[in-house]
This record gives sequence, C-alpha cells and structure tokens, in this order.
Amino acid sequence: MFSVTKNIEFCYGHRLSNYAGKCQHLHGHNGLVEVTLAAARLNSGGMVMDFSELGGRVSAWLEANIDHKVILAASDPLAEVLEKQGQACFLTAGAPTAETLAKIIFDACAGELSLPVREVAFWETPSAGSSTSVLKSIFRHRPGPKKPFRIISKCVLPLPVPKAR
Ligand SMILES: [Zn+2]
Repeated sequence: MFSVTKNIEFCYGHRLSNYAGKCQHLHGHNGLVEVTLAAARLNSGGMVMDFSELGGRVSAWLEANIDHKVILAASDPLAEVLEKQGQACFLTAGAPTAETLAKIIFDACAGELSLPVREVAFWETPSAGSSTSVLKSIFRHRPGPKKPFRIISKCVLPLPVPKAR
C-alpha cells in the first residue's frame, strides 16, 4: 500500500457555546489539515496522486466552504446575528470542535471530492488536533521531533454533513 499526505492551512473563527472555558468565546485559529490518500498501486506517473492536484482540490473545497468563515453549531444563536450582518458562517450539526471539522473534511474528501482518502487529521493549534480515518477508532500519540503534535482523539462516528450558508 502506498500513501501520500498533503498539508493545507486555512483560517476560521468559532466558539463552543456549550463549553465552560475560554473556548466559549468567539475566537479564531489558523487550522492545519493533513489529508492522507492511499492506493494499492501507483499511477503511470509513479504517484498515488500529484501533490499539486491533491492540494488544489482540497484547497478549493476549503475555500468554497469553510476558509475565513465563522464555524458555529447550528443551535448557536450567534449564527443568526452574524448572518444578518453579512458574515459568512458555516453551521455544524454538533459543536464545531476539531473532531467535528476532521469528520466534515474527511467526508468531503471521500464523497464530494472522490479522493481515495485514508485519513484526515485536523490541527486546531500546533498542539491540539483530531483525525478521522477509515481505520478503527483508536487513541494514539505521535511523538518525535518531526511530528511534534499529539493527536488527542479519533472519531469515526457518523455525523451529518451540514450545508454551508
Ligand atoms: Zn478554538
């Protein structure tokens, strides 16, 4: 099995409205998406997929859907206020956590983008991230100097993909 991983960054705002802590307040992140594709065989160019094609397709989806948007739970009353002000929002069925965003991006890669995706890891900050994969749900660590990040959870629970507004 061969795999390739492409990292793509995007900006977003969010808040966790049912959370006791500073993340209950509206704030922003420079998120990092790691998309890993897998294939049993390489294409005629000796690749799973060209990095520029992979990055271009995922970046286009991110820009069209969640880049520079405020990501809120559909139940968050702030969504209606911001939309009345003309602010671009993306509403999620549950809390807009790293776990939720990893799942949404994974589903977009596997569905709308028809990519042979094996895993999507989403980093809310350099030290806090989540990933969704086709593998069984496991808890794992990724220590080491090359990957100084720790994956704090994996989620394979079904979650409805909301429509962007
Ligand atoms: Zn946050």
